[in-house]
Amino acid sequence: MEKSNGRNIRFSIRKNNSLLTTDHFEIAFPDQNTLLISGTLESAQWAMNHILRHYAGVEWILPEECGMSYTPMNTIKIPRKKIMVDNISYPVSRVDANWTGWWTQNFRRGLRVDHDLVFHSFPDEKYGRNNSWPKAILPVLNGKKITALPDPERPRHYWQPCYSNPETARIAADNLIEYLDRHPDLFGVSLGTNDNGGYCECSECLKMDKGRSNRSESYYTFVNRVLEMVCTKYPELIVSVLAYSHTYAPPSFKLHKNVLAVMTIDVASCVSPEIMARHKKAIDQWSQKSSMLGIWDYSWGRPYFVPRMYVEAHSEILKYMQKRGGKLYFGENNCCDGFEGPKQYIVYRLLWNASEDPAEIAKEWYERCVGKEAAPYLAAYYKIWNDYFAGPAMKTPWFQSANSVYMTYGDPSHAFGVTPNDIVRADEAMNMVVKLAKTSQEKERAALMMRHWEYSKLLLKIYGVGIYDITGHISTPEQALALLRNAAEYPLNMQKYKEIGEIMIKDRNLNRFYTSKAYISEGYSMIYKKYDTAVANAVLASSAFANDPRVAAELRKTALDPRQPPLIAALCKTFSEAPEKQKNILAGGDAEKEVGKAFEIHPQHRVYANLTVTEKFSSGGRKSFEVKNEGHDALFWVLAPAMPNTTYLAMFKAFIPAPSAEGYLEATLYAEKKGRNQQWRNLPPLKLSGGIWQNFSVMTTTSSSSDSVRLRIYLRKFERGECIYFDDIKIIEVQ
Ligand SMILES: [Zn+2]
Repeated sequence: MEKSNGRNIRFSIRKNNSLLTTDHFEIAFPDQNTLLISGTLESAQWAMNHILRHYAGVEWILPEECGMSYTPMNTIKIPRKKIMVDNISYPVSRVDANWTGWWTQNFRRGLRVDHDLVFHSFPDEKYGRNNSWPKAILPVLNGKKITALPDPERPRHYWQPCYSNPETARIAADNLIEYLDRHPDLFGVSLGTNDNGGYCECSECLKMDKGRSNRSESYYTFVNRVLEMVCTKYPELIVSVLAYSHTYAPPSFKLHKNVLAVMTIDVASCVSPEIMARHKKAIDQWSQKSSMLGIWDYSWGRPYFVPRMYVEAHSEILKYMQKRGGKLYFGENNCCDGFEGPKQYIVYRLLWNASEDPAEIAKEWYERCVGKEAAPYLAAYYKIWNDYFAGPAMKTPWFQSANSVYMTYGDPSHAFGVTPNDIVRADEAMNMVVKLAKTSQEKERAALMMRHWEYSKLLLKIYGVGIYDITGHISTPEQALALLRNAAEYPLNMQKYKEIGEIMIKDRNLNRFYTSKAYISEGYSMIYKKYDTAVANAVLASSAFANDPRVAAELRKTALDPRQPPLIAALCKTFSEAPEKQKNILAGGDAEKEVGKAFEIHPQHRVYANLTVTEKFSSGGRKSFEVKNEGHDALFWVLAPAMPNTTYLAMFKAFIPAPSAEGYLEATLYAEKKGRNQQWRNLPPLKLSGGIWQNFSVMTTTSSSSDSVRLRIYLRKFERGECIYFDDIKIIEVQ
């Protein structure tokens, strides 16, 4: 209670009982001296924000410290009239940018959407320790009812309960009720399926599902049965399910009214009219079966090099779904800062009120951010990227992933359509923003926006954007030369990059995100990141023109530059030598003969994948290696004897006829001693675009005790039956 001159601000906190009404609040004046805020623990915050926003001119427009825009004032005047807020467009859950602290100001995490079955419905804690899983729930896999989980260390992977069995639902309901009894403040849970397939193949399940590809009938039957039991005791409970992979299609019947079906959409991919139409159709179909819907959006900002803006699509999809029962939004986006300008802010406003005009919100945002005069230039800057992602980016290899569940956010080819003119225009716009910002708040935010642009510009530079063609290839010695001259500036560019990073991590709101181990190791943080691989790839690309004397001279020059990372110097040295002088220590990597002894599926993985030589596809010659997946992660590896204290470069080409929904590769080259691995690295996912051969290369340096190197290519999350092709596998001694 706050007292001043006999006047009070009173809070009346009601007990929450439903996720649908958590955000509701009321501001009233019951008598001359009292301002009464009524709401839940969560919505009391919204009421305070409402007062600050409407009567003190406050707005939280960016996650950074300078992101609170306000007008200094001594007294706040609030008109004496009742305010009721009880109509929020997406009331159940609104989350974007997992990591940032800013979202607590604007968003609210209400409901989990996850592979949670073994968390509360079939608790691993209860059954996992002594393998006492009830027989009824265990599925038939590969013709046999399993007696233990496929991977007890990862209980939510590779298996599904036998969904058709009513006993499975009864056991889940009993466990869930027990769990809810212990958590009286919980109003929602997730019944999302386990991950990575493993659907039951018993005759009842197969009969219900009429086959193996679409498992919606048995799964949603299970969901309805569970809710009929649980919701008699907990009528307000909201249960999320994932319309995803094998349960993507709606079932033939209506879902229980407490189910909220979450659909996976990379909303920015809806820039393509066909993709927009496809998602709208899916929303229509789902809205016939489920009274509540949600979106799992892959709204990734960083690691894209430039802001991935397409707010029109967000507005259109959010509005469309809201009219058809949309209640939840989850943006999978680990970008913790203001790199994407107004994007997250606009999404937040639309989630609160989907009928707002995004252009109006954007205009307000730009003016608040840098002031009226500078605003048009900041708007022009973001329009460059909006237009880029709505135009040229759609012609890059990256855009092929628009047909997958999510777009491949780690693929640098997304930027290969950016032109030098785009960069000049962005520079001009941002210079004007800095010049025209007036107040100290505006100046601070203009400087911040400029830093974000400088960061983007450096990445575009380091990745050789503007030199490669839009498909990420080069075709002339001039391009090779330009790439190498660009590589020569890499040490200088990294110096500038580090300087920007050092300013950024000082931000008091975001320091803990930028510097958190997880954030850095996942590669989301710009801080402490290196781009040696990108530059090495540029050297690899230019090496195709090493017989041009100018290219050879540039390779020799970079090889001798002491500022270059050893990897790049050594690579340049390797390629400045004639190909026949390069020491390829691996025979048979062109797959033209049978599968050589060096090429294997890991012995323990041979039930998960099969390796052969085929003539179906090849990148050179007539044949390539084919790895056929059996619906489980597998490891394809290649062994070559090696020298101690030596750097090796492994190169291979990979191909998949059509992009995989979730499948990706991880590749690495590790030193070994007597068949024992000596190294370990965190591996970035390598997504295959589909329909084109892609080059990959990995390097390593052996230790004094190493006797061999092993190229490891992990095949992750591919579906049963998907085939990956490999060709031109080489392991070259670099230095
Ligand atoms: Zn079954």
